[in-house]
Amino acid sequence: MANSFYALRGTAFAKVIAVLISALLSLNLAMNSILYSGEEADPGDYKNVILLIGDGMGFNHLYWMEQKYGVDANIFTMAQYVGGSKTQSSSAYVTDSAAGGTALACGTRTTNGALGVFPQDQFGVTYVAMNLCELAQSYGKMTGVVTSDDNSGATPSSFSAHVYDRDEKEEITRQQIEESGIDLIWAHNNGLVTDDWANEYGWTLVNNNAEFAALEEGERSFGAFDGNLWNTDTGADSPNLSTLTEKAIDMLDDDEDGFFLMVEGAHIDKHSHNQDPENMLPSAYEFDQACRIALEYAAEREDTLVVITADHETGAISLEDDGSFQYNSGSHSGVVVPLAIYGSDNFVQDGEHIKNKEVSRRIAMAMGAAPDEFPYAVKQ
Ligand SMILES: [Zn+2]
Repeated sequence: MANSFYALRGTAFAKVIAVLISALLSLNLAMNSILYSGEEADPGDYKNVILLIGDGMGFNHLYWMEQKYGVDANIFTMAQYVGGSKTQSSSAYVTDSAAGGTALACGTRTTNGALGVFPQDQFGVTYVAMNLCELAQSYGKMTGVVTSDDNSGATPSSFSAHVYDRDEKEEITRQQIEESGIDLIWAHNNGLVTDDWANEYGWTLVNNNAEFAALEEGERSFGAFDGNLWNTDTGADSPNLSTLTEKAIDMLDDDEDGFFLMVEGAHIDKHSHNQDPENMLPSAYEFDQACRIALEYAAEREDTLVVITADHETGAISLEDDGSFQYNSGSHSGVVVPLAIYGSDNFVQDGEHIKNKEVSRRIAMAMGAAPDEFPYAVKQ
């Protein structure tokens, strides 16, 4: 009896221990996944999300800019966490801006050249991928797309259109005007949008500073400006990127459901293709100014997530023995790019590198999407 009693007690005791251990293990796993994987990151916690994309912006573009301007509060010091994004596309280790933008907009990697769609299947069928603007709209949020590039450039188009070929500028612009449902698209003028077309679909078309300043809250607006929006001095009757960012936040933040805003500094990439630091550095500086506006806005409140990253690096910039920076290429590279976060301690940890498509998935979850709701495919 004694033996069996002890045996029984031993078994029960072992069971209790086993249950305790497994409970502790699963608690630990759950804690790990909440803290480190981002899979459970901040579900639905954020009313507002501002995503700022420096096209072609690697770490060294920012350090070079800091060396020139003495900027002591760049995004690395203002952000709470700085990790990295691994930028490859589904078709190449080195992505173009179309696939890179799609990863950040739609939660999926795709074929270089494709915008807002999944890679074609073996039968050549294209599936449209929901983008973060569309997801935000499904939650009643206002949405905005701001860029120094043409409205039909690859990055803004990833957040506002779905085409298999990024060169379909007319179709991209048509989808933006007629189908996107976005509240503001402000960009460099691609020359395709007319007053009549914009008005027919409920937009006010603005082309200069006076028209821009006259925009009122609640007015849906398409900005098509002729100046160098990437430069603090645009050299024309046009607002610069930081001015656009400040007003975009102001116009979007009255909705009780919140907003999603994407801001792109496109010319860090363009000037790096030309290996032209004289123009790249001012464009990185102006992008930094736009980031500051978003970070300062978020710092005054508890409901706004700011994500700053790049779609890829351009120029393979290196730091040399004498402390100078130099270009090593006029093309995109495949290196890890910065991913800076303000407003969440769950999104990414310092030094953690995640896939580019994971950035938009975590933003989707921060806005309230369940893990299986984004990415989302619709047959074209
Ligand atoms: Zn490029």
